[in-house]
Amino acid sequence: MEYEIIDFHTHPFILDSENICAHKNCANMGKEFTLELFNALNVKTFCGSVLSSRSSKETSVLEIITKNNQTALELKRFYGDRYYPGFHVHPAYVDYSISVIDNMVKNGFKLIGELVPYFHSWSSYAEQGLNAILDYAGDKGVIVNFHTQDHENAIKMVKNHKNVIFVGAHPGEKPDIEYHLRLAKECENYYIDLSGYGVHRFGAIKTIVNGFGINRVLYGSDYPTCSPATFIGAITGETLLTSSEKQAILYKNAKTLLNI
Ligand SMILES: [Zn+2]
Repeated sequence: MEYEIIDFHTHPFILDSENICAHKNCANMGKEFTLELFNALNVKTFCGSVLSSRSSKETSVLEIITKNNQTALELKRFYGDRYYPGFHVHPAYVDYSISVIDNMVKNGFKLIGELVPYFHSWSSYAEQGLNAILDYAGDKGVIVNFHTQDHENAIKMVKNHKNVIFVGAHPGEKPDIEYHLRLAKECENYYIDLSGYGVHRFGAIKTIVNGFGINRVLYGSDYPTCSPATFIGAITGETLLTSSEKQAILYKNAKTLLNI
């Protein structure tokens, strides 16, 4: 069976310096390559933020996240409907972050992230400044995709902002999956994307679906860090899931969440 697919978690790029693939010399990877790859895999839409870190001491964090957000818009112009951009906010720059959310809403986008604190010189989901940004995101109906780290503060963040839908990235090993399931049980506003580490363990996806319910689990790959084919295969080839469950994970849940 051929499935429709939305990849909820990617980091597209234009410049080589924005390409976070560890094996990028394996092919001539440019923005056209990304499109050809997703065409070959039947991925209709790919979502997410441009993710490059500071190139030198002279470049400030604000400059780099501003550039990443601008590149996301440039890629949107290039890819059209195929790409759903995610944007960066930053707890040290509340005014800038609010203006990012305003611009997103004005342009019909509602995805922050993936937020990856260690890429942009912050470390904790308890950082001051984040509360005001998330309150504002909640008022505007914006979704937040965030890197799994700093579990205890992430729990507080999700619990304290019940009007924000959070999508945690990367299931991880069993103790991490138990953490995700605990949070999912307590917070209906907590979803998960399957990108990154974890789904290679037999039964992991089924365990996550059992805990979250079928509507809060999304396919994501973390391309170009990871291979989309690996994750698509892990879902389509999972004998423990029905085809309607596979369709929900691969496509329907992201479509509903982003209203696309
Ligand atoms: Zn990522």
